[in-house]
Amino acid sequence: MTELTHFINGSHVKGKSGRFADVFNPATGEVQSKVPLANAAEVAAAVEGAKAVQPEWAATNPQRRARIMMRFVELLNRDMDKLAEALSREHGKTIPDAKGDVQRGLEVAEFCIGAPHLLKGEFTDSAGPGIDMYSMRQPIGIAAGITPFNFPAMIPMWKFCPAIACGNAFILKPSERDPSVPLMLAELMQEAGLPDGILQVVNGDKEAVDAILDNEDISGIGFVGSTPIAEYIYSRGTANGKRVQCFGGAKNHMIIMPDADLDQAADALIGAGYGAAGERCMAISVAVPVGDATADALIERLVTRIEKLKVGPYTAGNDVDYGPLVTAAAKEKVLGLVNSGIEQGAKLVVDGRDFSLQGYEDGFFVGPHLFDNVTSDMDIYTQEIFGPVLSTVRAKTYEEALKLAMDHEYGNGTAIYTRDGDTARNFANRVNVGMVGINVPIPVPLAYHTFGGWKKSVFGDLNQHGPDAFRFYTRTKTVTSRWPSGIKEGGEFSMPVMG
Ligand code: NAD
Repeated sequence: MTELTHFINGSHVKGKSGRFADVFNPATGEVQSKVPLANAAEVAAAVEGAKAVQPEWAATNPQRRARIMMRFVELLNRDMDKLAEALSREHGKTIPDAKGDVQRGLEVAEFCIGAPHLLKGEFTDSAGPGIDMYSMRQPIGIAAGITPFNFPAMIPMWKFCPAIACGNAFILKPSERDPSVPLMLAELMQEAGLPDGILQVVNGDKEAVDAILDNEDISGIGFVGSTPIAEYIYSRGTANGKRVQCFGGAKNHMIIMPDADLDQAADALIGAGYGAAGERCMAISVAVPVGDATADALIERLVTRIEKLKVGPYTAGNDVDYGPLVTAAAKEKVLGLVNSGIEQGAKLVVDGRDFSLQGYEDGFFVGPHLFDNVTSDMDIYTQEIFGPVLSTVRAKTYEEALKLAMDHEYGNGTAIYTRDGDTARNFANRVNVGMVGINVPIPVPLAYHTFGGWKKSVFGDLNQHGPDAFRFYTRTKTVTSRWPSGIKEGGEFSMPVMG
């Protein structure tokens, strides 16, 4: 069995703690490798290595740093097939979806090629007599990223690309479920010319995370994962005086108005609800048709489409719509919630519980599920399921539908399907959710905008990627400078004013 490593100071390093986690092939259920789980001393050694080289990296001009990002983008394209295969083998998602995972990270690397422009700062000439004022964006030093299993390429790149382009060193603690692609990304950054020690990959679990949270040399932490862990990391990290941004779980509603193109809405729901087996923080997990006629017509269209869904292993290439869940525990949790939905009175219109695939009986596959008549007090509505389960909550009016999305504790993404511009505009303005789609089911902003939810889907300030990432990974220093001829005249004792 393969023993995976950490990537420290430019080399693969074996784990020293003696603790390992199993990495599965979710399609077959087999353990394919074991990943080392770092202890506090291993985390500290990685931080020491980063600390030794970060000042020189920060002093490297931003154009040179950007050129490494350019080369990194080329290498990602060169190795796209290899990365996608490794990603699918550990995560289970289809190959086209795995390529999307790499691509959406690659686009943030492309955005970071603009670092020289984004880091330019501000300058005021003659803010007072003989006085100039300028603001610089300086790196925070050493930043860390703690990332989830569901986008093992994209989310690490969302974190380390801007941090490194800003002149920081970065400690990446990827998910222990699918750690191979993050290690490959570190190798590619090295091949692109990144000095050793600037990107350290430390594999691990809570022990490594706690060591990051308590390390005095780490100034900033970016986290993505479930809400309870996000809340924990935010409170412990900020209590230790660090800058912390944590992105948590989601329950994304799609409102379908009576005037919507229902075929288009049904197609969108199928992709957004079942794609990646529902293991996306921007998956649509709740459909809210307005009016019973809309609901009946929508359910009919969904059922015919669900019957055609192809569930299978990534090795089937383009012939499969979604793959297995990531672990047996994830499968058990999803099926437990489906059973709770039935017990609590929801109508299970499509039942995927008995799904089985010949030759892959031990894989973590779950068939598609569709619920109707879900109400807001049910566990399948209040909790994030993170599986191929779509719940329908019927609303009588637009206001009732809007209220549902607004009252839910999560506020990551939402969408509305309508042909009416006024309703769409009203929805976008009023809904208390961070990312909104109008006739777009998964409104993930592109790299040059920013990504982030509201309410319990986020803890901290500033979003991921886009200009916010350059703000998060830098500190502002403002210099007021005077080169007057009369400086020898003596001190001033009143508060300086520029007027
Ligand atoms: P998770 O919270 O279980 O794990 C995320 C990270 O935290 C991993 O690196 C893990 O090792 C670490 N971790 C887990 N338990 C910990 C503990 N007790 N103490 C310290 N660290 C711990 O999340 P996951 O299952 O990997 O990912 C799925 C979740 O991520 C879903 O809730 C999904 O909505 C969310 N997510 C959110 C976004 C977003 O941008 N809002 C994006 C992707 C995923």
